Amino acid sequence: MDFEIVIGFEVHTELKTKTKVWCACANEFGGPPNSHVCPVCLGMPGSLPVLNREAFTLALKTALALQCDVPRITTFDRKNYYYPDLPKNYQISQNDKFLGTGGYLEIDLGEAGHKKIRIHNIHLEEDAGKNIHPEDKNVTYSLVDLNRAGVPLLEIVTQPDIRSKEEAAAFMTQMRNFLQYLDVSDCKMQEGSLRFELNMSLRPKGSDAFGQKVEVKNLNSMSVVLKCIDAEFDRQSDMLRNGERVMSETRLWDEVKNETRAMRSKERANDYRYFPDPDLVDVDITPEIRAAAQATIPELPLARRRRFEEQYGLPAYDASVLTASFTTANYFEKAVESHPSPKGISNWIMTEGLAWLNKQPEDTTIDDFPVKSAAIAELVKLIDTGAITGKIAKQVFPIMLETGKSPAVIVEEKGLKPVDDSALGPIIDEVLADPRNEKTIADLRGGKAAAMGALMGAVMKRSGGKANPATVTPLIRKKLGLE
Ligand SMILES: [Zn+2]
Repeated sequence: MDFEIVIGFEVHTELKTKTKVWCACANEFGGPPNSHVCPVCLGMPGSLPVLNREAFTLALKTALALQCDVPRITTFDRKNYYYPDLPKNYQISQNDKFLGTGGYLEIDLGEAGHKKIRIHNIHLEEDAGKNIHPEDKNVTYSLVDLNRAGVPLLEIVTQPDIRSKEEAAAFMTQMRNFLQYLDVSDCKMQEGSLRFELNMSLRPKGSDAFGQKVEVKNLNSMSVVLKCIDAEFDRQSDMLRNGERVMSETRLWDEVKNETRAMRSKERANDYRYFPDPDLVDVDITPEIRAAAQATIPELPLARRRRFEEQYGLPAYDASVLTASFTTANYFEKAVESHPSPKGISNWIMTEGLAWLNKQPEDTTIDDFPVKSAAIAELVKLIDTGAITGKIAKQVFPIMLETGKSPAVIVEEKGLKPVDDSALGPIIDEVLADPRNEKTIADLRGGKAAAMGALMGAVMKRSGGKANPATVTPLIRKKLGLE
């Protein structure tokens, strides 16, 4: 029996604010354990939370950008559970009047077209602290760091609309890109500021009914999520083939064994005893508040892609590759600002820049590329003005990557300047006098245009790639009396 994958995601993203969501402690990754804490985020009796306006605005901005229905009144609820990293024994979240419902993220699947992944709801809550379990076997205690407790966390819950691993990969990359465009989170998966929790079930191909879903936590990178989809597909399909029932449960990813293991049976909303948080007032999203948040939504990936085609005359493929990452698109525009040669710059980014990026860890962006946008612009300018040939540029680039030096400096130091026209004459004379080129010259005289390419190749070789093609062709024609 063949099975179809059914996936929904819970996307957790830490919002990029100065302070935590209910108190004035710094929202910063790292720092000595328990250094960003106060009575509010430590859950001391009598302390009271106050909603961080900036966190709320970023959350509202995201809901509006995802085309969600945003109600006039939104409220906060307590989600009750006990865990050492949760000092209040409840998490302030939203369960009754979500910040947004409905909406979608439209993902680009390449040749398979576009697909809308619908949003079930989007809500604002707080992150928990971190339990640290020392690796030393002789240590019989765990430690708790509450620096992260109370960091504003936005949760985006999708509908189970994803049907394959490829769609899951496209969703994760494009959701991350969308959030980076919105500038609401730094989206660093290694630091936990973006987390994808997987809800996955299988069903016989052709069936409309949903199977029992399994939720998997502890997935700290996109490649791990994809590995987990494979592992769960194998586990669940084996069970179904053997006539076993897949339990609805929460499982943890085991990075060493490359498999999931049971953590607890799936809790239901009732288990959390949600109730309205009496310490926080309802938020009235007035038309003014809504309009102000709406006004902060910048140009989104699809619009930027269209603009790249129109404004820079780029092919659709270049525009889609460059805008598939917020930072890459910015890098391109900065380079074009210093030297307006869009296609030339795009070529270098799409080949050398992305080749480099593909070899780096997941959170790396083009901002970490040793060759800065101004240097790429300078390199293309040197080619465009004839100061160096394209062939020389290919020799210069690896040195730029290695040393971070500017291309002009490298050209100077390595003596890679093109052969000037006076030196070019003797080189061409030698090529034309070479008996091995007799037939090619005859072909050229006979009107075979392709023969010019062969002569050009010979001149290039003799000049060490330093001849400027634009001057070589007329010189050859002149010397052969073909002008
Ligand atoms: Zn605090």
